[in-house]
Parts: sequence; structure tokens; C-alpha cells
Amino acid sequence: MKAITVIPKKEGSAQLMEVSEPEIHEGSVLVEAIAVGVCGTDVEIVEGKYGWAPKGKEHLILGHESLGRVIDPGPSGGLKKGDLVVGIVRRPDPVPCPNCAVGEWDMCQNGLYTERGIKEIHGYMSERWRIEPEYAIKVDPTLGILGVLLEPTTVITKALEQIGRIGRRSFWEPETVLVTGAGPIGLLAALAAKQLGLEVHVLDQYETGSKPDLVRELGATYHSCTVSELDFEPDAIVECTGVGPVIAASIQKIAPNGIVCLTGVGHGGVLNTTPVADVASAAVLRNNVIVGSVNANKRHWFKAGEILAKADRKWLAKLITRREKPENFMQALQRNNDDIKVVIQFSEV
Ligand SMILES: [Zn+2]
Repeated sequence: MKAITVIPKKEGSAQLMEVSEPEIHEGSVLVEAIAVGVCGTDVEIVEGKYGWAPKGKEHLILGHESLGRVIDPGPSGGLKKGDLVVGIVRRPDPVPCPNCAVGEWDMCQNGLYTERGIKEIHGYMSERWRIEPEYAIKVDPTLGILGVLLEPTTVITKALEQIGRIGRRSFWEPETVLVTGAGPIGLLAALAAKQLGLEVHVLDQYETGSKPDLVRELGATYHSCTVSELDFEPDAIVECTGVGPVIAASIQKIAPNGIVCLTGVGHGGVLNTTPVADVASAAVLRNNVIVGSVNANKRHWFKAGEILAKADRKWLAKLITRREKPENFMQALQRNNDDIKVVIQFSEV
């Protein structure tokens, strides 16, 4: 079968190549790939900055934003042939640490977890893949190809859960949430926050185009100003840009008792206009919490499936701005300005 592979840490090594069929030890459920979303992590792996091959192997099959159709459910009772499924990305570390031991692999303490398509386990960019039944999430069949948005949605279900849990340390009745960045994660954050009945604001640099339109179609408010120029103080901020000045302004803009949840992974950027002790003083005097959130556990995957199932299909469909064939994977990895989510399509739904 064909798969998109990379030799980790070797730039220019990505290729569509012939590989052997998935091995039974990878899981008793055999799945035919429909589509795989691409994101910044895939770009970094292809650029040789990140990624680990399975032990003893040279190549890593890429891809962690999966959607497939069950060909053979194996002996497990929960799935049947034809079901649409998405594969969970992370697996608990083998020790396991206390968090992995209770299924909270997203909070792994020792870093020995593995991740499909990223760290030591093959990903989902192959014509067929296998998965353990307990790591396959069944997708609402009416979502069709939109099920490929489930993995990015898990980032948000975890972030919102974290905000809610931290908020309930005291009286917590949030009204306004600000989402910084109108990429796929930001737009899915706006969708999920709207479903919670919150007043949702989304901020990005574009003044026109599909991003402002998509925000308004949700019934949320779009802002193309800077965070510091906003004329309100949000109760919660879901930071999805990873951009230094946006993060700094978010920390200064958050309401008393408010929570800033950081989900974007950026690089560099010096807080030279924001002395650290001043930021800390503001957080102390206003009981603010700044929390980082990465990955997701099974509870978040289940919840993400519910959010997508409830969402307007026409709106979700506009998030997938480009579909590329596997042989054109390099084009899929190149980001155009009007791209939101690009997927590599292996077969029809
Ligand atoms: Zn662990």
C-alpha cells in the first residue's frame, strides 16, 4: 500500500512510498483511510525539526488528524464494517506515570508517551491503518468527511474543560470569551464556546475574507484590532496564535478572576515591553490564571465528537478549504493565506 513517510529529523526526506500492510500488533481493527488533515506539526516534521520513527525503523508514517472507514472490526463488539472512525493520537507511557495510569495521557508526567504520526508510532497517512478498538472513536456518519475535524476539536474540548475546572475554584459564571486566532483551532473554539451559550469574540489580523465571515455566521463578533484595543475584558481567553505580543496583551486584558488558556505553540518573541514582575503583579491582584493545554484524553475525544455532531454541516464544510491527493502531499503542506484546514484525501466517503 502507499503511505506518506518521512525519515525523522531529515529535511527533504518526505515521500509517498510503497510500504507493507499494517501489522496486526498495531490493532485488531483494520481501517481504510478516507482523509488526513495536515497541521503545523506535520510541517515541522517534514522540515526535519521534530518526529521519531518507531523503534528499529527508519521511516515514520506521517499523519495524526485521521478519518477512516472500518474494513474489518476484528473481534471487538463495538464497531462494525463501514463505521466511520477517527484514531486517538497519544498512547500512555509504559511505566506508566500516575496520569497515564488513569487514562490522562494528555497530562503525562514523564514524557515517555508515544504519538501516532509524531512519536514512535506510525500515523494515519497510509491507504490502510490498524488501531486498537479502545483508541478508535466512532464518528457520527452524517458528518462524512467533516469527521476529519475531530482531532483539532479535541484540543478545544480539553482547553474549555480546563478553563471550566479552574473557574470553579470560586463563583464562576463567565459571559464573554475571547479567542485569539481564527485558524482551524480558533474557529472550532468559537463554535464550541457558542454551543456553551457564551458571548464569543474572535480576533485575527484579516479585515475581510472567509475568517471574519465564518465568525459572524456563528453569531460571534469578529475583531481585526489588537487585543489591547478591545473595549472589554474577557472572562476567559483561548489563545490560539502562539504569538508573543498577542499572549502578552491577553494576559493584560483578561478580566478579574479570568483565565487565559494557551493552546498555540510559537517560537521566539521577547516580552521586552512587558516586565515580568508587572505581569505577575497584575495576575496576583486580579486572581488571574494562565494555563497551558496540550493534547487530549478519551473524554475530550468523545466530547469533540458531540460538538461536531451538533454543528451546522455547511459551516463546518467551509473549514476544509482544500483537498489534495496523496501524491500532492507537498502542496497540502504549503499554507496559503486563505487556507483554513487542508486535508489529504485517500478515498471517497
Ligand atoms: Zn505518562
